[in-house]
Amino acid sequence: MAVDHDILIAGGALNGSALALALAGVGLRVCVVDPVPAKVQGATGFDGRGYALAVTSQRLLAALRVWGTVAEHAQPLLEIKVSDGRAGEGPSPFVLEFDHAEIEEGPMGYMIEDRYLRRALADALADDPRITVLAGDTVVSQDIGPASVTAGLGSGGTLTARLLVGCDGRRSPTGQRAAIKRFVHDYGQTALVCAIAHERDHGGVAHQFFMPPGPLAILPLPGRQSSIVWTETHAEAARINALPDADYLDVLRPRFGDFLGEIALAGARFTYPLNLTLAMAFHAERVALVGDAAHGMHPIAGQGLNAGLKDVATLAEVLALAHRRGEDIGRADVLARYDQWRRFDVMTLVAATNGVNALFSNDNSMLRLGRDLGLGLVNALPGLRRGFIREAAGLTGDLPRLLQGRAI
Ligand SMILES: Cc1cc2nc3c(=O)[nH]c(=O)nc-3n(C[C@H](O)[C@H](O)[C@H](O)COP(=O)(O)OP(=O)(O)OC[C@H]3O[C@@H](n4cnc5c(N)ncnc54)[C@H](O)[C@@H]3O)c2cc1C
Repeated sequence: MAVDHDILIAGGALNGSALALALAGVGLRVCVVDPVPAKVQGATGFDGRGYALAVTSQRLLAALRVWGTVAEHAQPLLEIKVSDGRAGEGPSPFVLEFDHAEIEEGPMGYMIEDRYLRRALADALADDPRITVLAGDTVVSQDIGPASVTAGLGSGGTLTARLLVGCDGRRSPTGQRAAIKRFVHDYGQTALVCAIAHERDHGGVAHQFFMPPGPLAILPLPGRQSSIVWTETHAEAARINALPDADYLDVLRPRFGDFLGEIALAGARFTYPLNLTLAMAFHAERVALVGDAAHGMHPIAGQGLNAGLKDVATLAEVLALAHRRGEDIGRADVLARYDQWRRFDVMTLVAATNGVNALFSNDNSMLRLGRDLGLGLVNALPGLRRGFIREAAGLTGDLPRLLQGRAI
């Protein structure tokens, strides 16, 4: 049976767009459907959101020819400093320092604002004749047949493909329609997100302060600006977010400290309620889930998008090989290879982020002593420290080719 496309992607945000480029690159016909209109996908405004991209994610974007357009806006991550602290007291003396000079690969990663990455991906999709983009539309139904999936669109009409990939975020309507069960856990925390301008140079150093209500990450952006991801309980975050800018900064200052001099807001403020959503399977017959649709995690380690781009590289590699061998790319046994490749890595990451959040987001004095000693111990052991640096850079595990910067 003739199908309209080889692959239909529901959701054209960061992961859906990257997947479309990767699949088109191996000769598959791809269609991307997203309710967000094209002009918004390529928006230019400074919205204060940024991502810490691991070096392997940067390699993937380079292999997809997207990095060239965003590189000038990226800030290399040269050092990460982790410490325990309380508002007004500054960080504890037990600081864990990860320096990129301890590994051969260069910077551990790059900070990039959402607006540059989103626009570069939207432009690359628009420029690729092998990709059809239906912006402003929605996938509302899916009917699985023996050789194809038929998707209903919100605008009316249907599309057929061999495979439907849900890149449709934490609630993943695609996953729900495929009856894939999901584990959901509310962390009881909300992230306050903004960008700030500061008086002194950050030197490419990222800071993670562990405060009793949750972590405060200060992530360097180009120039004298940093992206802030600041976690509080839901109620406290709602209270702080309702404050005018000047009062908001007054609450942030004692948590932040004065090591970067005077600070000011540099753009809009956002809040994200934090929960874990983990799909019990990353595939079903003619359906695969990628990115937050498969696993939405705590931003404590800044790994959500990195994990999604690892899905992208893995699924693209599995499908490319199956396509070359003449296999049906929508069959569950083909998609199970993707699921098996990703599941252990995702489970390990979720367990690690949950563990770190539980261990650090409290004010128990015994735990505080234990974790301070732990930070001091890891810092004193170069082998262990290098292991953490390679982990942060995304360089561990069984890496798919695109994350190694190689063509599929
Ligand atoms: C505060 C915070 C800080 C973070 N910091 C980092 C970081 O430093 N580093 C990092 O790696 N990650 C970070 N992350 C995680 C990262 O933001 C996410 O993992 C990533 O943006 C998820 O992208 P996605 O494309 O999978 O999903 P989403 O961005 O959720 O996109 C889903 C898309 O699907 C579309 N859609 C929904 N329903 C349908 C439908 N029925 N049909 C078609 N389309 C549909 C939506 O319109 C949307 O465009 C952070 C997250 C938060 C909350």
